Amino acid sequence: MDKKLIYTEFKNILGSDRVLAEREELLCYSYDATIKESMPDFVVFPLNEVEISAIVKACNKFNIPVVGRGAGSGFSGGSVPISGGAVVSFAKMTGILELDEENMFITVAPGIINADLKNYLADKGYFYPPDPASFEFCSIGGNVAECAGGPKAVKYGVTKNYVYGLEVITGSGEIINTGSKTIKDVAGYNLTQLLVGSEGTLGLFSKIILKFLPKPETSNLLIVSFDNSTNGFNAALSLLKLNSRPSMLEFMDSSSITAVKDYFKNSFIALKGDFLFIIEADGSADEVKSAIELYKNKLSKFSPVLLFAAGNDKEKKAIMDARKAISPALRAFGDFKINNDIAVPINKIIQILHDIKNISVQYNVPIINFGHFGDGNIHVNIMLDKSDAPMLERGEKAKYDIMKKTVELGGTISGEHGIGTMKKEFMNLKFDSYYINLMRNIKKSFDPNNILNPGKIFD
Ligand SMILES: Cc1cc2nc3c(=O)[nH]c(=O)nc-3n(C[C@H](O)[C@H](O)[C@H](O)COP(=O)(O)OP(=O)(O)OC[C@H]3O[C@@H](n4cnc5c(N)ncnc54)[C@H](O)[C@@H]3O)c2cc1C
Repeated sequence: MDKKLIYTEFKNILGSDRVLAEREELLCYSYDATIKESMPDFVVFPLNEVEISAIVKACNKFNIPVVGRGAGSGFSGGSVPISGGAVVSFAKMTGILELDEENMFITVAPGIINADLKNYLADKGYFYPPDPASFEFCSIGGNVAECAGGPKAVKYGVTKNYVYGLEVITGSGEIINTGSKTIKDVAGYNLTQLLVGSEGTLGLFSKIILKFLPKPETSNLLIVSFDNSTNGFNAALSLLKLNSRPSMLEFMDSSSITAVKDYFKNSFIALKGDFLFIIEADGSADEVKSAIELYKNKLSKFSPVLLFAAGNDKEKKAIMDARKAISPALRAFGDFKINNDIAVPINKIIQILHDIKNISVQYNVPIINFGHFGDGNIHVNIMLDKSDAPMLERGEKAKYDIMKKTVELGGTISGEHGIGTMKKEFMNLKFDSYYINLMRNIKKSFDPNNILNPGKIFD
């Protein structure tokens, strides 16, 4: 690779202040939230689709990889340039391009931070629901590329449910526009939804059309736990069948309650039980009040050992603090975490938690589980000691068995973080070679020279 020649080409497209090639500068773009690291050869900062197209065409000419990068908060290695090449950072494309209040659509540049979009809409009385825990720092482009989800998915769905159209630069540098600002659109294949969750392997998004909703007036929270998982499971299921569906239904299994118990000290909420839920209702003040009463009524029929509804903001904060305590509490169980985000059909949650418990015993590794009950999306954290090589090996074996069980139960190996490099070895547990080849052929149509994020999802 003639780096000087490529640098000159990028400089001609963007000017020298929007191209990085020095080692110290490149280092900041060599990792995401995983343990993966790999240096790019260049980092470029386009301002619009025309510049992105020119960058991609240049990468084709020199046959180097192009890796899109939002905020670099991914948990699957997606934005790590594993084969070098050019990282395309969207950090300078952060604008609101159009607010269409009549149709209730907003068009944004891909680098806008999720929280900035939420706040912009909230100030006008609107609501963008997808709420990954990283919402304060992750970008909408990254959310679309990973189809990010969060606690509100149980009522409002995930990123894909809000993306109606995209401006995309394909692997050959063509600029295409998918979808429309209509609720109904069945003209041809649904390329918009194919691109959502494509992890930067089919195209780079330069504009994103998103649906938004009216903002709920208020919300309230309750915390409930049960001393046996069957009661807990049936209690939570009963809430999902209500018209006034919870806007959050987070759960902790016995392993995470044990993990959090010592860490979370609160005078009016003493954590107990084997299956715990944090539940939110949103809507108008009257709707929230009656939903919380209804939830309490339903839940109390399943003999909870803890049932506490917040009466004010201080109590709401205390309930959320119990949820937030999980991450710091995990540190007591190891300095290295294998973080999995499997999803199973809801009626298989108890079974997979039971299987995970057995796997934890079999490999002698602590495994802490919590997650989003209404989506069957479980965060399975295998906690390890970084300096204990045999333990790390046992952790990897445990991970494999968990993925296998998940697929056997009709589930999937990633509910929200994506495959990237971290889970591609498990793709053949979920898909046969015919299916994987179909995906490869789709990639070939979008990216004939395989320069868009190569080595991600599959080799
Ligand atoms: C503390 C923490 C909590 C998290 N919680 C959640 C959670 O609750 N739910 C959840 O779903 N995820 C969560 N994540 C993971 C991560 O934040 C999400 O996957 C997020 O969507 C990544 O956005 P990003 O801007 O950081 O993208 P990056 O990490 O920069 O990139 C992710 C992928 O998107 C591609 N990409 C980025 N921009 C574009 C673009 N414009 N066009 C095409 N491809 C592009 C990249 O190539 C890469 O493959 C969490 C991460 C952290 C660190």
